[in-house]
Amino acid sequence: HRPTAELQALDAAHHLHPFTDGDALNRKGARIITRAKGVWLTDSDGHQILDGMAGLWCVNVGYGREELARVASEQMLQLPFYNTFFQTSHPPAIALAAKLAQLAPGDLDHVFFNGSGSDGNDTNIRMVRRYWQALGQPERSVIISRWNGYHGSTMGAASLGGMKGMHEQGGLPIPGIAHIDQPDWWSEGGEMSPEEFGLARARLLADKIEEIGPSKVAAFIAEPIQGAGGVIIPPETYWPEIQRICDAYGILLIADEVITGFGRTGNWFGSQTLGIRPDIMTTAKGLTSGYVPMGASIVSRKVAEVINGSDEFAHGYTYSGHPVAAAVALENLRILEEEHIITRVREVTGPYLKAAWEQLTEHPLVGEARITGMMGSIALTPHKASRAKFAAKAGTVGLICRERCFANNLVMRHVGDRMIISPPLVITEEEISLLMTRARLALDQTLDIVRA
Ligand code: PLP
Repeated sequence: HRPTAELQALDAAHHLHPFTDGDALNRKGARIITRAKGVWLTDSDGHQILDGMAGLWCVNVGYGREELARVASEQMLQLPFYNTFFQTSHPPAIALAAKLAQLAPGDLDHVFFNGSGSDGNDTNIRMVRRYWQALGQPERSVIISRWNGYHGSTMGAASLGGMKGMHEQGGLPIPGIAHIDQPDWWSEGGEMSPEEFGLARARLLADKIEEIGPSKVAAFIAEPIQGAGGVIIPPETYWPEIQRICDAYGILLIADEVITGFGRTGNWFGSQTLGIRPDIMTTAKGLTSGYVPMGASIVSRKVAEVINGSDEFAHGYTYSGHPVAAAVALENLRILEEEHIITRVREVTGPYLKAAWEQLTEHPLVGEARITGMMGSIALTPHKASRAKFAAKAGTVGLICRERCFANNLVMRHVGDRMIISPPLVITEEEISLLMTRARLALDQTLDIVRA
């Protein structure tokens, strides 16, 4: 490939990046990744970098799996494209829908295919509104979600999301979306115990339903564990109370499993780990381990019967059920299953990582360290006892730490002053030890910079 500087100049000249500060890009240039294998990235200067984020929380089976390339190539030669509109179907989409119905918990046994997590959540908004309309209750249209949740970047998904910065850019949210506060005990719990706080935050859902009017609320959507918001693992009291409230008011529950699906929490789905019974699950990312784009809304029989039992659901994407993506997804699920990758996360590598991760609270900069399966975060703080935040602009210390990680050939993400990991599920114990050594080094270096 071309020299790094040349690639960076071309990139800065012509490429508009998602979620990127253009000024920083111009000053420093993009990091250019050229190859990857297992949990290891190679950049354009030949550095070997440990990917503690599995790309964007998605490369669950690790990089460089030849089986996935082979099935994609075979499927392209056999049937590269056909749609699933207008009463047509094809074997890969059929097999994948049936497989997902088998893997999903409870009576989640129908699948609507999407192109990604964002457009999947748009599907879900339209589907739950369609559901209540078909049942003769069109006024039940409001969807409640959470501040600091992330559900994607389309107009619908970004409206569901509670990232205020996103809402400020371009007329969001769309009508009929309401938000409640998140269950982040470390940052917002004050004097309450985690258990009290979990209940209090769950009960905000009932308050919001009463405020809007129970006959107007269609659904509640949330990530089982908030990912992009900072890997916020809710107190144990939270989800049972949310489930009780959804049941009591008869509103649909949508679990956004785009990150938590396909093994990340040590079970096939985060809903299983956290004891949630959703009516719809949004999935994407780990469905194909990111090798090709695909998303799937996995829908309960109850909802599917209403959608199928009324006039045509006027919704769909050209690439819904794309045969190449479906073939790759099926092979990816086969690998996860036959190599017992999720069981290993639950029983071996997850507990190993958890033990090491939680020791990070011994570091002077680290307040809380939380982790479930292969998704974890640490809160950086100047004062642990008071759970204080850094006085400098929020996120500055996190950004410094992210830079120090990268300088030590480790990818960790920062969300404000929190550091996040979400490595490929195939990471080995040796690689976890290396990850921890590099993370600690980055924390030491960050501390030196903060103190200077
Ligand atoms: N939902 C959640 C929970 C996510 O984390 C993401 C992406 O990070 C999305 C939805 C959006 O998915 P996509 O980027 O595939 O559109």
